[in-house]
Amino acid sequence: MTTSLQRRVVLRGGLACAALIGMRARLFAADVDVLIIGAGAAGISAAHELRKLGLSFRLIEARDRIGGRAFTDASLGAAFDAGAEIIHFAEANPWVEIARELGEELDLSGGRMGGWQVFSGGKRLGMLERGRRWQAFREMEARMAAVERAGIDMSLADAVADLESEHRAIARSGLLLVLGEDGERISVLDNQQLWNGADYTTRAGYGTLVIAYGRGLPVALSVRADTIRWGDGGVEAETSAGTIRARAALVTVSVGVLNSGAIRFVPDLPSETQGALAGIGMGALTKIALRLNGERLDLNDSTTLMDGTRSEAMTMIEVLPGGKPLAVAICGGDFARGLGRAGEAAAVAHVTDVLAGMLGGAVRRAVTGGRLASWWADPLSHGAYSVCQPGQSGARAALAEPVALRLWFAGEATAGGGAMTVGGATLSARKAARDCAARLKT
Ligand SMILES: Cc1cc2nc3c(=O)[nH]c(=O)nc-3n(C[C@H](O)[C@H](O)[C@H](O)COP(=O)(O)OP(=O)(O)OC[C@H]3O[C@@H](n4cnc5c(N)ncnc54)[C@H](O)[C@@H]3O)c2cc1C
Repeated sequence: MTTSLQRRVVLRGGLACAALIGMRARLFAADVDVLIIGAGAAGISAAHELRKLGLSFRLIEARDRIGGRAFTDASLGAAFDAGAEIIHFAEANPWVEIARELGEELDLSGGRMGGWQVFSGGKRLGMLERGRRWQAFREMEARMAAVERAGIDMSLADAVADLESEHRAIARSGLLLVLGEDGERISVLDNQQLWNGADYTTRAGYGTLVIAYGRGLPVALSVRADTIRWGDGGVEAETSAGTIRARAALVTVSVGVLNSGAIRFVPDLPSETQGALAGIGMGALTKIALRLNGERLDLNDSTTLMDGTRSEAMTMIEVLPGGKPLAVAICGGDFARGLGRAGEAAAVAHVTDVLAGMLGGAVRRAVTGGRLASWWADPLSHGAYSVCQPGQSGARAALAEPVALRLWFAGEATAGGGAMTVGGATLSARKAARDCAARLKT
C-alpha cells in the first residue's frame, strides 16, 4: 500500500526525471563544446589547449580581472605579487617556456638574495641558536621521510609528536610558511609527493605574466557560475549573465569555493567526488605588504627577516624586494586567519610592530601604508591553496576523475606533485582539456 508521503516522493522523482529528460533533449543544442569556469592559470591554460584542439569554448570569470590567485598588486606604487610569486620546479614548469615566448624576463636566482636574519623576542639569533632551529627542521624532514617509507599517512603534528618540546613546537610549524597551514591539518604523504626543483621569478611579477598569457582570449568577466546541471546530454550552467549550455564543463575554481557550496550541482556530485572534496582543505598563506618611504633601514635589497618568537605566529618579511620600497610579510595557519579577520589596518599595524621589534622604532616612521592580501577571506578563493587532510593523500587524484564524462575538475588542487602551484594548475588544466576533447570527439 502506498502512503501519501511515498506518492509525493514518487511524483517528485517522476517530475525530476521528466525535467532531466527535457534538459537532455535541449542540451543537444549546446551553445559551445566546453564551458570553462574560472580564468585563473588553469582556466586560461585550458582555453589555449581547447583552441589548439579545435573545440569551441566559453570562458567565464567571476572577478573583474583574470589571473585568479596569481595577482601582481601595484596599489602601493611599487608592485608585489599578492598571490603566486615563484615559478617552482622550474625544470618542468610550463611557465618558464610561456615567459620566454612572451618575452618576460626571468630571474633565475629565485630572489631573496640579500641574506637571512632570524630573530626571536626582538633578539637577532647567532649561529648557534640558528643551528638549533635548523636541527628541528632536519628532524621534521627525517620524520616525514620515515612516514613516507612506511606509507601510512598521518598529520605533520603526529609525525613530530615525540620530539623534545622546543624542537616539537618548531617542527609542528615547519610548513606554516610553505603550505600556509598548521601541522595538525597537513597530510605528510601529500606533502612528500610534491615536486621540488629550481625556483625562478619574473621581473614583472607572476600575476602580470599570467595576465599576459590570457591576453586575447575571449573571457566573460564578472560572470559567476551559480548552478551547474549535468547529465548524459551535457551541462547547463546558470550564471549571473544567463544560462550557458555546453557539451561539457571544465571547473577550475578552488576547492575552497567548491566546499563553500557557492556553486550548486544538480544532481549532487557523485560520492567519490564529494569524498575527495571533503578530504582537501585550504591553507591560509597570507601576505601583508608595507610601503616604505625610501629609507634603507641599513639592509641590503631583498633581505629576508624571520621572526620566530612564537612558532605558530612565525612571520617572514622580505625587505626592499628587488630594491623596491616595500616590506612583504608572509604568515600562515590559524594565526593568519586571525589577522584576516582583524582586517587590513590591524594586520598592517601588526607587521609594523614585528618589523620594529626586529629593526627598532625607526621602522615606524618609514612605513607609509600597507595592503593585506587575505585570500582566506576572499569568497572567490576561500584560502591560498589546497592542503590534503591527514589520511587523504589520494583526494587529489580522485577529484581529477571526470564526472560522467561531462564535468572535469582542474586547477592546482588536482595537480598531484604540482599541487598548490601555478605550474601545476596549468599542467592539470591542459590534461583535463585534452581528455575532455578526446571524449567529445568520440
Ligand atoms: C599568498 C599566495 C602565495 C602563493 N605563492 C605561490 C608561488 O610562489 N608559486 C606558485 O606557483 N603558486 C603560488 N601560489 C598558488 C597559486 O597562486 C595557485 O596555485 C594558482 O594560482 C591556482 O590557479 P587556479 O587556476 O587553479 O585557481 P585560481 O587562480 O583560484 O582560479 C580560479 C578562478 O575561478 C574564479 N571563480 C571562483 N568562483 C567562481 C564562480 N562561481 N564563477 C566563475 N568564476 C569563479 C576565481 O575568481 C578565479 O579567478 C600562491 C598562492 C597564494 C594565495
